[in-house]
Amino acid sequence: MIPQEFIQSLLGRVDIVDVIDRYVKLKKAGANFSACCPFHNEKTPSFTVSPSKQFYHCFGCGAHGNAIGFLMEYSGLAYPEAIRSLAETVGMPVPETQARFDAPRASQAPGLAARMMEALGYYRAQLKKGRIAIDYLKGRGLSGEIAARYGLGFAPDGWQNLEAVFPDYATAELKDTGLVIDTEPTEDQPEKRSRRYDRFRNRVMFPILDSRGNVIGFGGRVIGEGEPKYLNSPETPLFEKGRELYGLYQARRAIRDANQVIVVEGYMDVVALAQHGVENAVATLGTSTTPVHVAKLLRLADNVVFCFDGDAAGRKAAWRALEVALPVLTDGKLVSFLFLPERDDPDSFVREKGKAAFLQALAQAKPLSQFLFGELVAKVDMGTEEGRARFLAQAKPLVSQIEAPALRAMLRHRLAELARLEPAEIEALLPPSKAAPASPRRPMARQGKRATSFAMKLLALVLWRPDLAHLVPVAAIDGSAPEYAALKAVVSYFGEDSGRNLGQASAYFEGSEHHPVIVEALGEPLLKQAESPDFDYESEIRGAVERLEEERRTRRGSELLRLVASGEATPEERAEFEHFHAQLATAKGNPVPEERSKF
Ligand SMILES: [Zn+2]
Repeated sequence: MIPQEFIQSLLGRVDIVDVIDRYVKLKKAGANFSACCPFHNEKTPSFTVSPSKQFYHCFGCGAHGNAIGFLMEYSGLAYPEAIRSLAETVGMPVPETQARFDAPRASQAPGLAARMMEALGYYRAQLKKGRIAIDYLKGRGLSGEIAARYGLGFAPDGWQNLEAVFPDYATAELKDTGLVIDTEPTEDQPEKRSRRYDRFRNRVMFPILDSRGNVIGFGGRVIGEGEPKYLNSPETPLFEKGRELYGLYQARRAIRDANQVIVVEGYMDVVALAQHGVENAVATLGTSTTPVHVAKLLRLADNVVFCFDGDAAGRKAAWRALEVALPVLTDGKLVSFLFLPERDDPDSFVREKGKAAFLQALAQAKPLSQFLFGELVAKVDMGTEEGRARFLAQAKPLVSQIEAPALRAMLRHRLAELARLEPAEIEALLPPSKAAPASPRRPMARQGKRATSFAMKLLALVLWRPDLAHLVPVAAIDGSAPEYAALKAVVSYFGEDSGRNLGQASAYFEGSEHHPVIVEALGEPLLKQAESPDFDYESEIRGAVERLEEERRTRRGSELLRLVASGEATPEERAEFEHFHAQLATAKGNPVPEERSKF
């Protein structure tokens, strides 16, 4: 891997404005530069590039990142390639790197990320050791080259094999990797200690990589019989299933070249297709397609083909993908659906019939509109008025989600034809298009997962204005939620060197457990307000810090209350408690509440 110190100094040297201006013409707009966003369709520019932050950000679709991230998103370069190409422009030689799978990334995120790399090293070594897994892969027609490219490994049978890999096998930290499972003590034997064992046993292992090539999870396919056939890592601080696509790291370049991405259901499908020279396939990871997936896919290529099994489950998965795609479609993008013959999956299909047959099938994929109307028409009797009315009722909520103007118009037209109504009658039945185009990326923010807290807002403000990070005392950040940990890490990072910018911070935290929280903070609507010239950062930050401190005091207060009430308090704690309450009473101008004052 390329050392983080190098990446930090590279980002200190390049100017993101020059980098982006080579691809997208930028216009000066106040302290920033702006353009129409290259990642979503728009007529008025909401894409801004900040020279002081060394960061780009689109307030329309939420796309953001540093110079490296821009090259990856825009040119489809893989992480190391993007760094090399950037380093070339400023004449910095990139330090020698080691093969991706062979060494843990030493420079940062020593915790989870390094552990995942260690596990991968172990699984890969196990694959080479025995015959079982190699025979299995060979039986599936996979070459050693493809196995190496996808980092395939083997988890041997046995309950605690990973004890040999991790000296801290029993610790809570290892649990966070998702590689081990603890048994629950049973009700009839509550005294029985919980036991820990390996999650993956007797399985071919497929490492799941993020866009930087870091291992964030694993998929395991059982060898021979056994349930479940496919097993994935659980969600961990590194791995969020709804955001990740298996094989994207390897497929990036092929996707860009073909301007097409094929979405399949399983990792074996991705690997088998690659074996046969179809390299632009990715898979969802044991979840149905999410809006995050679709937004990601549409940014990668203009042409997205969902390739599902021909059975009922496959059709259901395809329908789900369609529903998710409707609101984020833009004109100029083509989403289509390919159903393989029943009992076939892409793996078996390409193995038996070969690449040419697969590409031929791919060319016959149904465009989204055809799939949409085809499914609806099949459910009703279009020969009757009642049937057509039902069809219309079911089509209405779907078609009205489409914001892409041309596609929307065409689908309405087709709808009228099928329902045997005049276009004007259809217009009267459908709600008018929303004034503002639906933002394709906003739903990606993990809504509902974590209520926006002021700690999150504070994190966003500090990321936006690192020069004000010193206003946040690290000691005041005291909470166990991930946003506190991220805030603490970010404030400390900026505190070490006042010259650091957001672009560098985002490279530094990429792949760490704080990364998802940071991404979420950068999606805070507050940042849009903060762009206004009369936004007062200092008082916003000071206000949030006050709340942090208040929260910390409250927490300490209830801790003291608990100690005093249970008689466990030391004389010092008791004194602190008295003092605390006296203060609280003066601050609020209230007498100390009755039930508390008796302590
Ligand atoms: Zn955008």
